[in-house]
Amino acid sequence: MPSTGPIIAANQVSKSFGPNEVLRRVSLPVAEKDMVCVIGPSGSGKTTLLRCLALLEQPSTGRVIMRGTTIASPKPDSAERRAARAVRPEIGMVFQHFNLWPHMSVLENLIEAPLRVKRMARHAAVAMAEQLLAKVGLADKRDVYPMRLSGGQQQRVAIARALAMSPQVMLFDEPTSALDPELRREVLIVMRQLAAEGMTMLVVTHEMGFARQVGTRIIFMDHGEIVEEAAPDAFFTAPKTDRAQRFLSLFA
Ligand code: ADP
Repeated sequence: MPSTGPIIAANQVSKSFGPNEVLRRVSLPVAEKDMVCVIGPSGSGKTTLLRCLALLEQPSTGRVIMRGTTIASPKPDSAERRAARAVRPEIGMVFQHFNLWPHMSVLENLIEAPLRVKRMARHAAVAMAEQLLAKVGLADKRDVYPMRLSGGQQQRVAIARALAMSPQVMLFDEPTSALDPELRREVLIVMRQLAAEGMTMLVVTHEMGFARQVGTRIIFMDHGEIVEEAAPDAFFTAPKTDRAQRFLSLFA
């Protein structure tokens, strides 16, 4: 029977770096086709939460659960480690600074993980990569090296690269923050299209217009906690907490 629970969830996750507790018992389920936008002041723990969900940081307490199975905890047992290895390819991650492999062409960037991790046949990986490049509007760039591309083009390649693993969920960490305003749009268009296709997404962003228009849920964080959670229109027209009101007034 298909699971009706969340695809991925943080369950009471805390994270400390030394004495600094940067996440405090955060619980966040992400349901299928959700488009969760995480917003909040710098240093509030947004990236750390995303990195815990992406299995790039280990929680100090609490668990990360994917479709009912624990995939991260402070002291994972062998079953959890196996589960984490199994689901890692299903969690797509897009970073602020693109993180493409500079010594590989665009096509090679896209097929590397499908070939090595999924052991896909080369012709199938190339055909899929070409489709994905067409989808992000970069079919003509397949043999170019990343440094020859604009930031917006590099980020679209990074999105296509993550999609090449057929992820169950896509996590975006401030995907447009490193881009000039005129290049942000082309990345946001691709993300909007993904959301419209029903991709399950969690996006840390400062793009308030995008969050309002495309998000299905807004999560507002401050000092390592989820302070407010609401539907986009409700959040942006009438935030309930002082902290959210103050934060939004910076964008007014
Ligand atoms: P945000 O994404 O909301 O700006 P972060 O999750 O990046 O917040 O950071 C939250 C806090 O955690 C910050 O004070 C940051 O300095 C600290 N932090 C993040 N990563 C590390 C790390 N690897 N080591 C030590 N401190 C970290």
